[in-house]
Amino acid sequence: HAKSRGRSNYQFYDCKMNEKASARLKLENALRQAIEKGEMQLYYQPQYKLGTNELSGCEVLLRWFHGGELISPEVFIPLAEETGFILPLGKWVLEEGCRQGAEWLEEGVNVPSIAINVSAFQFRQEFYRTVDSVLRHTGFPPDLLVLEVTESALMSDVSRTEFLLTQFRELGIQIALDDFGTGYSSLAYLKKFSLDKLKIDRAFIDGLPDDQDDIAITSSILDVAKHLGLETIAEGVETEAQLNFLKAYGCDQVQGFYFSKPLPLNEFELLISSANDRP
Ligand code: C2E
Ligand code: MG
Ligand code: MG
Ligand code: MG
Repeated sequence: HAKSRGRSNYQFYDCKMNEKASARLKLENALRQAIEKGEMQLYYQPQYKLGTNELSGCEVLLRWFHGGELISPEVFIPLAEETGFILPLGKWVLEEGCRQGAEWLEEGVNVPSIAINVSAFQFRQEFYRTVDSVLRHTGFPPDLLVLEVTESALMSDVSRTEFLLTQFRELGIQIALDDFGTGYSSLAYLKKFSLDKLKIDRAFIDGLPDDQDDIAITSSILDVAKHLGLETIAEGVETEAQLNFLKAYGCDQVQGFYFSKPLPLNEFELLISSANDRP
């Protein structure tokens, strides 16, 4: 009895696994065609200087509209990384972002800096040449480009990373360390690598201004950054109380739903043109 039950269980799982595997395969194939089918779209989330509330930049966040659904980057970016599709996809995001930025400049819109997320896998492969060539043919100024990298990207090959970052610095590109504090953070990396900006992860902003741990962590990060001459930006700012805390502790910039969600192009353009109209 036990044997036959075990066996049917096994078949049940086997079948479920096949279902899962084939769903995944389907999604993988759809992902590979997403660019040519026009299903990928850049969204833009504004970033502001704390104190003056001036628009200081924006972060490009990728959206995938597929089969009448919006698939989260939390789902498809890992899939793209596992399949290697992140290379063409990441290049496309960079191209689109820089092309759009150059267009804004041409139209006389005061373009804030544009931050683009880069995954660890991209950071290892001919990435410098890709960025350099995209900047050249789009004409987007390197000093308006921010690359957001994570700690895992920096860690994967320390000496190559050091070299890459030095090359980017020579081009005038800024490097922001994304999700700071959530990875295998080592303060030694802050000293070793030439970074421009720390992005404090929203996990720590969440509990402000009441949670004692979040207060300790956020104020320490701001303190270390200031002493190392790094710019700071807080992500995931949702309330005025969080904003006031960050202001009091000297954070440089903020980004979050309190100001705006990530917006599709037309809405973001409305937002920046009204910011440009402000006296
Ligand atoms: P991230 O780079 O840390 O981006 C910030 C995420 O926080 C975004 O999620 C944004 O929509 C969300 N967010 C911003 N403000 C708030 C807020 O006030 N409250 C809350 N709850 N969330 C807020 P999103 O757009 O879903 O992106 C998730 C992650 O996917 C990004 O995290 C990034 O790691 C990755 N990603 C997105 N686009 C790209 C891309 O083009 N390339 C790569 N490699 N990764 C990307
Ligand atoms: Mg980011
Ligand atoms: Mg982040
Ligand atoms: Mg994140």
